[in-house]
Amino acid sequence: MKQDLCPSCQEELTFKVSGSVRGEQYLCHACQRIYTRVAKCPDCQQTAEKIQACGSVSYFCSHCNELKSKTRIQFEYNDAL
Ligand SMILES: [Zn+2]
Ligand SMILES: [Zn+2]
Repeated sequence: MKQDLCPSCQEELTFKVSGSVRGEQYLCHACQRIYTRVAKCPDCQQTAEKIQACGSVSYFCSHCNELKSKTRIQFEYNDAL
């Protein structure tokens, strides 16, 4: 399973908050920065929406209009502030 790494120092990020409108937030202790993790569709590079059902997570791309496996989803880390 892929780790969540800081885009600037490559340290492992700490999960901070989920369920916010802007996505999931991760904290880098080394940089003292907060990042928002954005899921990207592997096929069209548009933002995919996280769908949580029965304990499993998948992602829906409204551009492709289909579900994407979380193993194929690409993550991008943006500065939250
Ligand atoms: Zn960092
Ligand atoms: Zn797509």
